[in-house]
Amino acid sequence: MKKYKTGIILFMVFEAIAVSLWLSTGSLFFLLNFTYIGTCIAVGNVLMVKKWKYAREFVQFTVGSYMLVFLGLICHENMQMEGFWYYLFSGFFGAGVLHYAIAKIFGPLLFGRGWCGYACWTAMILDLLPYRTPASPRKSIGWIRYVMFGLSLALVVLLMYLGKANKTTMFYLFVAGNVLYYAVGIILALALKDNRAFCKYICPITVFLKPMSYFSALRIKCDEEKCIHCGKCLKVCPMDVEVNRNARNRKNATECILCQKCKKACPVNALK
Ligand code: SF4
Ligand code: SF4
Ligand code: SF4
Repeated sequence: MKKYKTGIILFMVFEAIAVSLWLSTGSLFFLLNFTYIGTCIAVGNVLMVKKWKYAREFVQFTVGSYMLVFLGLICHENMQMEGFWYYLFSGFFGAGVLHYAIAKIFGPLLFGRGWCGYACWTAMILDLLPYRTPASPRKSIGWIRYVMFGLSLALVVLLMYLGKANKTTMFYLFVAGNVLYYAVGIILALALKDNRAFCKYICPITVFLKPMSYFSALRIKCDEEKCIHCGKCLKVCPMDVEVNRNARNRKNATECILCQKCKKACPVNALK
């Protein structure tokens, strides 16, 4: 059972959230929603332990497409950053705000940027592109994410000030925002030969994700005594993490999406 520990813990955390929200709000939606997500993660963990090649993609598609298609396009829930600001400023702590609190603000203290590796519907598509391993060195343009963060906040404040912010506007914004993210993400990935270029330079959500994931309980640890400095982990890492150092302040530490590629590549099992 020990090898399934992570999956069991994560399932229990999601189930605890599901039951507490169901009981406190009386809404069955929360029970079903978080049970579904917890189950996908747990099944993904079992598939990963069984070494199925596409275990991570299984979680990414089952959770990511559920959120994009069912919650976003069918239920009209804006789960993007603009939706978060809108619901937060409206004082409506529904699915959008809870999603941010759990997946992107407080959850990363437990599971780091697991959202980025296993659930994000933008990366779910970007990961299908040909450059899984970056073919170009990292650029120093990460500041763009802070500009995007400010623009997203300003847009919602402006819409609210003009009295144009409502659920219909937020739905159209959700559709337009996703089309824009996919277009920019795909163009950037092809131009820089790096599937995750959008995540590294543009995505405003990382402004929340990065500081919290620095303290993440779940992280890739390196036994530096065992490491033979072959560099294989560094070559396969899609996020340029200096994973062959164990310190929390290793280079690009808060970029790790827990995809496990480095662990699979290590010839001496120095990464856990
Ligand atoms: S950085 Fe942004 S786009 Fe990339 S996986 Fe994370 S949330 Fe999704
Ligand atoms: S390859 Fe390793 S260090 Fe790089 S993102 Fe994946 S899990 Fe993190
Ligand atoms: S793959 Fe393993 S042995 Fe090679 S540098 Fe990375 S941690 Fe060290």
